[in-house]
Amino acid sequence: MQERMNRFRLVVHPFFMLSQSQPCKQCGRAVKGRTDKQFCNDGCRNQYHNQRNSCQNNYMRQVNHLLQKNRRILASLFLGASRNKTIAQQQLTDQGYQFRYYTHETKTQDGAAKFCYEYGYLPLDGDVLLILHQPMLESTIFAG
Ligand SMILES: [Zn+2]
Repeated sequence: MQERMNRFRLVVHPFFMLSQSQPCKQCGRAVKGRTDKQFCNDGCRNQYHNQRNSCQNNYMRQVNHLLQKNRRILASLFLGASRNKTIAQQQLTDQGYQFRYYTHETKTQDGAAKFCYEYGYLPLDGDVLLILHQPMLESTIFAG
């Protein structure tokens, strides 16, 4: 009954809403001002959206961290590798390389090379990987 009354009043007196304060979506305190205001201040708005995005941000942060770690491992092995730039796959494993995470794949005549940013590897025969460094996007090093 009370709810009906309120609805009735809203229709008859639209300005009723202007004087009615809404609870802030973040802290629950009354929000003053326009009725479409959802937060009492910018701090509450930011906090609300940060919390809403935190799961997504956390996931991305973890994946980015893994990709960057993979890249760092590849880069150090590339620089430290012998002239032919081949390593044993075990060297990546030993350093905690996460094979499931890579930024892109490039098809070559000898198979698919997987990259973490500009560093990557191409599996050769056995347990051997060719470490690759492809500093330019759209590189043509595999053409022909
Ligand atoms: Zn608030």
